[in-house]
Amino acid sequence: MKSSAEIVIVGAGPGGLACAKKLAENGREVLVLERQQHIGPKVCAGGITWSGLLRVVPEELIEAAFARQFIFSNFQQIMVAEPNPIVATINRETLGRRMAQDAEKAGAVIRTGTAVRRISGDHVVVKNEENGTQKITYQHLVGADGSSSMVRRYLGIPTEKLGVGINYQIKGKSTKMEWHLNTKLFGFGYGWIFPHRDTISIGAYGDQHNLPAAALKKRLLSWAAQKGYDLSREQSRAAFVNYDYKGFSFDNIWLIGDAAGLASGLTGEGIYPAIVSGKTVAQKIIEPSSPTTAITAMVRKQKRHQTVIKLSAKHPLLCSLLMEWLVFLLRIKILDFHTLEMAD
Ligand SMILES: Cc1cc2nc3c(=O)[nH]c(=O)nc-3n(C[C@H](O)[C@H](O)[C@H](O)COP(=O)(O)OP(=O)(O)OC[C@H]3O[C@@H](n4cnc5c(N)ncnc54)[C@H](O)[C@@H]3O)c2cc1C
Repeated sequence: MKSSAEIVIVGAGPGGLACAKKLAENGREVLVLERQQHIGPKVCAGGITWSGLLRVVPEELIEAAFARQFIFSNFQQIMVAEPNPIVATINRETLGRRMAQDAEKAGAVIRTGTAVRRISGDHVVVKNEENGTQKITYQHLVGADGSSSMVRRYLGIPTEKLGVGINYQIKGKSTKMEWHLNTKLFGFGYGWIFPHRDTISIGAYGDQHNLPAAALKKRLLSWAAQKGYDLSREQSRAAFVNYDYKGFSFDNIWLIGDAAGLASGLTGEGIYPAIVSGKTVAQKIIEPSSPTTAITAMVRKQKRHQTVIKLSAKHPLLCSLLMEWLVFLLRIKILDFHTLEMAD
């Protein structure tokens, strides 16, 4: 493995790979370091939205698309419909494979099975099963290493606003995409049923401080059982969602996606912010005077979502009222489903 690269990207998730592709297309030397042996697998429901990625991802990556969304609150059940699909599902492994191929075709080098263990101002120390421990120097370092980012920790940026999501990917078919804003079980989070091609993602998202993973899992299991899904023998996977954005540019070190805290705290949507921030940071490295309006727009959206979170966190009754109000506004079409998306 090379001992230096102009730009080292830590993490081959959607953010890191989008960043790598754009940099390589512009003739920059890029090395992506990924600790997993295979690119792609990630705890995720795989939902992408029309205003975000649905219109731009290759059609063959779409597992199932839904022009109707079924939303349930404590007291209401509504259906939101549009001519185009509002949300579709993708398989993260397929997306990862495709994005890695595109980045490599553009000239980026990707090293899997290579975990970054230490970071300093001009180099990282990596551990790779074949080559052992190695030092790699960089001019730019991009932290695309997700919600528990080591690059973010190296920069001394704390992470307080954290969501937690639990996903079960079970075999089966379903035709309805469902969102359950059950505040008694999930607070300002929600339970979901997202059909894929031959599987169904069933999961729940909540606030890490109010609803730790163990409690969330217990509630998810009993809620799913009520919906007719016995998940007790299925494999669950959980992960954090970082929505504590504190900036993306720190001299020659950059943060993107979950590492930057760019996901929505309300919905947990993070694939679109990861890709958009990855591309924006790449452009900024290529052309330092380039605008970063795409990130500014996402941060604006994220803040609006956080206003709902802040109010909901004040009292369970207020949380319930807010969720009912949200669903009511969707029902009478004053609020658009796209308000809940990270894309404008
Ligand atoms: C249960 C759940 C459901 C979700 N559902 C959705 C959804 O439906 N739609 C949506 O848009 N978002 C969803 N999200 C959020 C979404 O998965 C993330 O926001 C998105 O993956 C962030 O992309 P990223 O590239 O920033 O980071 P990641 O996808 O997390 O990629 C980070 C990469 O860095 C690697 N890495 C980490 N540390 C190191 C290291 N030290 N050295 C080398 N490599 C390292 C990891 O192995 C990983 O491959 C969900 C999240 C959860 C937890």
